[in-house]
Amino acid sequence: MSAEPSEIYDLFIIGGGVNGCGLARDATGRGLRVGLAEMNDLGSATSSASTKLFHGGLRYLEYFEFRLVREALVEREVLLRAMPHISWPMRFVLPFHKDMRFESETPMSRLLTMVMPWMRGRRPAWLIRLGLFLYDHLGGRKILPAARTLNLASDEAGNSLHSKFRKAYEYSDCWVDDSRLVVLNARDAANRGADIMSRTKVVRADRKDDHWEISLRSEHRDWTVRARMLVNAGGPWVEDLIQNTMRQNTREAVRLVRGSHIVTRRLFDHDKCYFFQGTDGRIIFAIPYEEDFTLIGTTDSAHADASERPVCTDEERDYLLGFATQYFERPVTVDDVVWTYSGVRPLYDDGASSATAATRDYVLKLQDSGGAPVLNVFGGKITTYRKLAEAALDKLAPLLGNTHGHWTALASLPGGDFAVDGVAGLVASLRRAYPFLTDVWARRLVRNYGTQAAVMLDGATTMADLGEDFGHTITARELTWSARQEWAHSADDFLWRRTKLGLRVSKEEAARIDAFFRDLNLVSGPEVVVPEVSPVG
Ligand SMILES: Cc1cc2nc3c(=O)[nH]c(=O)nc-3n(C[C@H](O)[C@H](O)[C@H](O)COP(=O)(O)OP(=O)(O)OC[C@H]3O[C@@H](n4cnc5c(N)ncnc54)[C@H](O)[C@@H]3O)c2cc1C
Repeated sequence: MSAEPSEIYDLFIIGGGVNGCGLARDATGRGLRVGLAEMNDLGSATSSASTKLFHGGLRYLEYFEFRLVREALVEREVLLRAMPHISWPMRFVLPFHKDMRFESETPMSRLLTMVMPWMRGRRPAWLIRLGLFLYDHLGGRKILPAARTLNLASDEAGNSLHSKFRKAYEYSDCWVDDSRLVVLNARDAANRGADIMSRTKVVRADRKDDHWEISLRSEHRDWTVRARMLVNAGGPWVEDLIQNTMRQNTREAVRLVRGSHIVTRRLFDHDKCYFFQGTDGRIIFAIPYEEDFTLIGTTDSAHADASERPVCTDEERDYLLGFATQYFERPVTVDDVVWTYSGVRPLYDDGASSATAATRDYVLKLQDSGGAPVLNVFGGKITTYRKLAEAALDKLAPLLGNTHGHWTALASLPGGDFAVDGVAGLVASLRRAYPFLTDVWARRLVRNYGTQAAVMLDGATTMADLGEDFGHTITARELTWSARQEWAHSADDFLWRRTKLGLRVSKEEAARIDAFFRDLNLVSGPEVVVPEVSPVG
């Protein structure tokens, strides 16, 4: 469905990251006519390069960011209930040692140095316990278990660490598959009537009194749409869009902070994560990843320009390896690394001195003085994308006379309409209905598609019914679903964002998948034409 040339969108959103797609979903559910353009694949920028945590952000307490931490803590369980397929609780183990130090300057470290000068920048154990107490109680937990102290000599979490670590604290946060979060928000928005246009760049936006004229470009054509309001959710490009695409006069600026991760072979045999504190005061996570791997990150480095593709530099990789090796008994080396990725945080430039200190809170700047309004979105976290959308629409909807209230807190994302602890049951029932599925395959499908997995497999009685077999449990049926339901256009979209099977697939196998997508003859833009292909081989 797309707006006819004579029609006008209520809201047009630039950017198909988590914030743009979350906003499109909320707005469409409130009855607004919504269009969204994403210049590349959905979620292809920052929103697929995060640490993938729904978290309050323990370290932000030291910056006294209580509003942000509380909102994010409360939000963890709201999100978990809405998407139990792509998000799940995790326990984080924070080994204690005497050398724990603050990052040079946090409001908390300054306060502590003032009242206890003998501490000289050390981060004491009682402060961590206080932080964890607040973490447990600020956010009104119902599902997630509370923090506790661990004896690393007897707990399995101690096995892979240096024996000098004897004590740890353990607390809860949640995992989320960030790029699937984006695409499921887009899917829900489209199901409710939004036009989601991937691979479509906004090349120009002109304010014409009471509306915006927006020039779009895809591989196959140029065209123009109109909208009463514009949202700039361009992430790292937010400032570029303000200056060059909308040519607006504003002092608002973005601070680009690159964060890199490394993925290694699996470094430990349990399902808990580690929260490591470095002697430089920074922290990193080591998280079980995709069954056979460990995800380690992140770094904080200034990034000059949004147009420069972020990559994990050798220096960042070595920093992460060295950091992890301070904790793991077996040194973590370059040979363990199987993949790296990097993303750019589009933080609001609040004048903070260091990249680590810049606020992670979102900032929404509404400009409505010169006619049709535009809302510029800065910063934010994956964790707060739904709250950001609510706050944005609370500003915008009344300007359109829309009085619908909040609705997303209790609404599942596609495939997420089952209990938080229901994954095992869903895997079992999927295997009963489709006996040719292996356990690994069924689990992967449930983690990706939740209750929608059964819809995708509908009618299949043997594996051959799912069409061409691409190995690693990938079939033509799933690729076709991915193209039709999830805007996948290439092997890259499918292997690295709709799934993480890129970690397992060879170049030759990826080329076959690419050829399959090419044969589907996908066209970007509002009237995506996906020809009927028979999934049955
Ligand atoms: C290393 C790292 C780790 C992080 N870890 C976490 C975490 O664990 N938990 C958490 O809550 N948050 C985390 N975050 C923060 C979170 O990832 C970001 O706040 C969030 O993804 C930003 O989403 P966005 O939609 O604003 O931006 P993006 O995802 O970058 O989306 C913006 C989109 O706009 C598109 N665009 C730009 N210009 C145009 C144009 N002219 N036309 C059409 N489209 C355009 C881009 O292609 C892009 O896809 C992390 C961030 C980083 C970098």
